[in-house]
Parts: sequence; structure tokens; C-alpha cells
Amino acid sequence: MSERQFETAEDQNSLEAHLATTAGPVEASLEAQPGLPEVLPTAKDAKASVLPNFFDFPLKDLEAVLTGLGKEKFRARQLFQWVYQKRTHDFDLMTNVSKTFRAELPGLLEFRLPKVVQELKSVDGTRKWLFDVGQGMTIETVLIPSKDRLTLCVSSEVGCNMACRFCYTGKQKMKRRLTAGEIVGQFVHAQDSLKKDGLRVTNIVFMGMGEPLDNPDEVFKSIKILHEADGLGFSRKKITVSTSGIVPLIPRVTEAGVRLAVSLNAPNDEIRNKVMPINKRWNTKALLEACRVHTEASKDMVTLEYVLLRDVTDRIEQARELYQLTKNIPCKINLIPFNEHPGTEFLRPHQEQVVKFQNEMIRLGAHVLLRKTMGRDIFAACGQLTSLYEGRPEKLMPTPSKSLTTKASAETTVSLS
Ligand code: SF4
Repeated sequence: MSERQFETAEDQNSLEAHLATTAGPVEASLEAQPGLPEVLPTAKDAKASVLPNFFDFPLKDLEAVLTGLGKEKFRARQLFQWVYQKRTHDFDLMTNVSKTFRAELPGLLEFRLPKVVQELKSVDGTRKWLFDVGQGMTIETVLIPSKDRLTLCVSSEVGCNMACRFCYTGKQKMKRRLTAGEIVGQFVHAQDSLKKDGLRVTNIVFMGMGEPLDNPDEVFKSIKILHEADGLGFSRKKITVSTSGIVPLIPRVTEAGVRLAVSLNAPNDEIRNKVMPINKRWNTKALLEACRVHTEASKDMVTLEYVLLRDVTDRIEQARELYQLTKNIPCKINLIPFNEHPGTEFLRPHQEQVVKFQNEMIRLGAHVLLRKTMGRDIFAACGQLTSLYEGRPEKLMPTPSKSLTTKASAETTVSLS
């Protein structure tokens, strides 16, 4: 979910970012990024593929797909190992797979990942990928470095319908929910890219574009795929799902065995109703009770994100109110000074007020962290680069004489599609 926060807390937990803020003015950002490449919707994008996409399936589901096609169940495990562990793109190299099956594969499955439009690297180590998911739609994925972690912030939807008033993505209506394969694909691309530099993703947070619990089936399916021992083998405890507060679905986070983050962002219902419309459906009491139940069942603390909006949520009395509201929940609170973005009605808090707020929380005994902004030079606030890109329709419209000749096309050749 979330307003992606490309900020990092000042301790080891810093990167579970969520509530976003944004970098500088859009116009300035555009100037800073020469030559945004063209991405042309393809015929394949425009019509749904008739073949199942390998990347959409957890192992057991892939076994069922293959046996349904009359193939041996163990082929699914072989493919998982080749594709996810050995990252082989060439069927001919899958030496323990029979030649007959290899020859049949292109007619059985697609191996389709989102296409990388652009990869940006910040001077502070933050990286950002812009992906084309077809029909002119794009999503963003951000890598946030900290002392001992490289946390990948993945998107779950194109746009978002939650309409949190401080969120840049919330201003972009949801266009569609991502498939599990498109979520897994963000990780696969990032991991491949990092590998070239001898690095690897250590944590994954569902805090990019979209509300993950508005797309629960695909999100939890992607978690299964990421966790599969014969595939990527990513620990569930290194994955965090963040929600704006879809209370009835929080138990699914618990069942999935992953960590929970919640965008709280207000010390009471009155303010939360104003900044997060979802609070009118499930209020703070219901939300925090769901958090408490999660912490009991999971034996894990919940992360509460709290965006500091000047004169709206950053007053000292609100720090006290926030403490009272959350003191019985095993939690850590991430304070996120709001970064102004184009069109926002809110202001960034004064630094001295941020410090006072944090100190008051500490004095009261809260486990509270403060994030510092990262990746400002690469539009680290989720939704911002997408907005820039999609705001240039001439860059997205097909022109008959041109084919995909950009970095996007070059990089998609590494996928198995
Ligand atoms: S509008 Fe959507 S993406 Fe933005 S903070 Fe709210 S839930 Fe997250």
C-alpha cells in the first residue's frame, strides 16, 4: 500500500517505509531526467494472453497447471529452479529437462515479466525502477538502502483508490490491480540488477503504489512465490505488508506469516477521517484492535506509520494523544515528516517541531523512529515518476514507423517472454 516513503529511519528498522512524501517540483524533476524513453503498447499488451504466465503461479499451482496439461508434476519444480534460482533465460540450457518438454514449453506457458522502462540510481544509494505493465500503464519500485539492509518497496496496484489526502499516488485513481507475476517481476528485475553490483535485496515491503489489501489474492500469491524454497526462498519474516486500514483483511497478513505495517497518520478519528477516508469505514479503534490481535497471534510487533503534517498532526498534544492511543499495542512508530509534492494542500513540518514531537514520544516511553528523506534526486516518492511518465502521452502513443527500441525493449529480452 501506501504512500511510498523513500525515507529511512535512523536505525536498523528504517526501511519499512510507507507513507510517502515527495521530492522536488515535477518540472524540475523532468529537467533532471533527460530522455525518458518511449514505451509503446504492444498488441500483446492490448489483449490478454491465452497462455498462463509462469510468474503468476506458486509451485503447487504450477504443478496443477502442468498436470492439467498432461505433463509431469515434477516439471514445475524443475522450472522453478531454473528460472528463479539459476535465472536461466534459455530453455536449451535447462539440461535436466527433457528435450521434448523444452520444445513444448513455448506452447504451454508464457514467461512474462513487467518491462523495465528506466532504472534510476540516487547518489544516496536509493534506486528506482519504472516498469511498463502494458497499455500505457506504469508502476514504480524502489530500493532503499540502510546500514544493514537493502529493502525493496514493491507496488501492488496501478494507482490507488484509497485517496489518502497526503499521498501522491492517492491522487491517481486505481487503473488496475497487479498480477502476482507483476509483483514478483519487480523483485526479479531488482535482484538481477543488484547482482551485477554484488548486492541483493534483504527485505521486501508492500508499500509502493496501491493498497495491498485491496488486491489480496494476488499479493498473498506473490508472497507464496517469493517464499518458495525451490524458487526465490525469501523469508516471510523479511516481508512486510502495509495497509491503510482494511481491517477485515488484516488476519490474512497474520496467516501469511509476514510482518504488518499500518498507516495510522493521526492521533484520533476526527483527524484521521479528514486525512484518510478509509477511517470512516474502519475507525482507529477497530484498526488498532486488529493490530493487537495480529501482534498476539504473530508474536511480532506492528509498525505504525505516522506522517507529520504541519499544524495538522505535528503538535505536542497530538504526540501525547498518539502515545495514549497506541501504548497498549506492541508497536514501533515511524515518524515521517511530510514532503510537499505538487498540488498538495499540506506543508512539511518545521524541523524543530519534528524533534519536539519525537522527543515527547520518547519521553513518554514510545518506541519511535524518525525517517530521513532519501532518493530525492530520483523522484523517490512513489507515483511521482509514473505521473511524470504518464503525463507525457506522446511518449506512450505508438507510432507506426517505430518499434520498441528503447532501454525497455532491450531489458525485456532478458525475460523468458
Ligand atoms: S492513497 Fe493508497 S497508496 Fe497512497 S497512502 Fe493511501 S493507501 Fe497508500
